[in-house]
Amino acid sequence: MKNWSGAIQWNPAALLFPKSTGEVVKIIRAARKSGSRIRLIGSGHSFVPWSETRDLLISLNAMQGIVSVDAEENYITFWAGTKLKLLGKILHQQGLAMENLGDIDRQSIAGAICTGTHGTGLSFGNLSTQVSGLEFVNGKGEVIWCSENENRDLFQFARLSLGALGVITKVQLRLVPSFLLQMERKKEGLEKVLAELEDRVNTNRHFEFYWFPYTQTVQTKTANVSDGPKRGGGVGAYLNDVILENATFGLLCQLAKLLPSLNKGISRLSAKAVSGNRKIGDSHKVFATPRYVRFNEMEYSLPLENYKDAFYYLRKLINTEKFDIHFPIEHRFVAGDAIPLSPANGRNSAYIALHVYRGKACEPYFTEAESILREFGGRPHWGKWHHPDPEFFKSAYPQWLNFLRIRNEMDPEHVFVNKWMGRVVGGK
Ligand SMILES: Cc1cc2nc3c(=O)[nH]c(=O)nc-3n(C[C@H](O)[C@H](O)[C@H](O)COP(=O)(O)OP(=O)(O)OC[C@H]3O[C@@H](n4cnc5c(N)ncnc54)[C@H](O)[C@@H]3O)c2cc1C
Repeated sequence: MKNWSGAIQWNPAALLFPKSTGEVVKIIRAARKSGSRIRLIGSGHSFVPWSETRDLLISLNAMQGIVSVDAEENYITFWAGTKLKLLGKILHQQGLAMENLGDIDRQSIAGAICTGTHGTGLSFGNLSTQVSGLEFVNGKGEVIWCSENENRDLFQFARLSLGALGVITKVQLRLVPSFLLQMERKKEGLEKVLAELEDRVNTNRHFEFYWFPYTQTVQTKTANVSDGPKRGGGVGAYLNDVILENATFGLLCQLAKLLPSLNKGISRLSAKAVSGNRKIGDSHKVFATPRYVRFNEMEYSLPLENYKDAFYYLRKLINTEKFDIHFPIEHRFVAGDAIPLSPANGRNSAYIALHVYRGKACEPYFTEAESILREFGGRPHWGKWHHPDPEFFKSAYPQWLNFLRIRNEMDPEHVFVNKWMGRVVGGK
């Protein structure tokens, strides 16, 4: 097995594909009896080893699609292994959509909510905030339903749980009528965008930008609801998204890996090559961007009011040219929420994401950047590179100890522990 970036590779004793909640219960009870450990894998798109195990690995790839529909309330319950791409397609057929999504649609819904996957837009929380209920099988083999109305306290932890409480089998989503989205990409100046930032994030449904290191150039992405007609898909979009953005960029990444002295020049060249475009289409398709160039990534959420200072010091660090990097740095904006383990808990947040081409050393760069981001109140994206530090988590998350207590209630024998889980939440 390997994760998407290829940096984490492992051999589980067995990879199991249950087809129902009942089969999941059987696997957990048998593992408990034999003292085996279990980890889960969605699409393997996390950059840290949540799924690494020499014991049992469960995939819910055989548990995808709709379980039930509550048309009156705009709620649909999905099997938790459903991939976001399929989910978007099914919802569209029902005239519904998720109000916001991240950059790609390859993740499973369970994997996405376990790590707090998010998109951009200050009116929207991460994907876990769109969950209205879920079913999971805990470490004792008990099937539990929790929702906004039932087992409410448990639900708050279960909808962003790091996969520590049990196997999520069903996810009920709160949905909106399907809509068209217009996405506009533009090449702009960094200082102008920073000066207008409050206005841009407050007046657009979605706003984000990429800064090209060692330059004053950014690419902005602004998206709002549109009346149509659809435009900008087809061959033109394919040429731009796949050939220009992925294939050409992939070649430049290879070059920069072979000849590190070219990193600065390649970032400047990429900045020069940025062009604008506009696309109108079904929201679930417009949110998703093809990503063929593989990388490792770290992302931190910051209290919105600390964002500009944190970014100033991050730029200073990058401009020292200590690190062989050229990937543009992504900036997104997410509404605060009340989910205990959400990086946006209790605060509107700006997320800063750093990428390093796969196969290149990322640790020195990420480590120094991480200490700056933590100084400004940063909390890591749970699915992306970070140093796990229980003392830090305890100070960053007011409900951390409650989460540990609930984890011990749900999984008293730590059936779901692996090395990484042990470093984050402890374990037997
Ligand atoms: C190219 C790329 C683009 C990305 N874009 C974004 C983005 O725009 N926004 C963002 O926030 N993140 C993004 N990510 C990160 C990604 O969304 C998260 O890492 C997400 O968790 C991956 O989902 P997955 O299905 O691959 O889960 P995995 O990585 O396979 O698993 C994640 C966690 O969920 C657990 N898990 C999986 N299924 C279950 C289950 N049924 N029950 C209990 N636990 C389970 C796993 O054990 C693990 O702990 C991106 C990653 C990549 C590689």
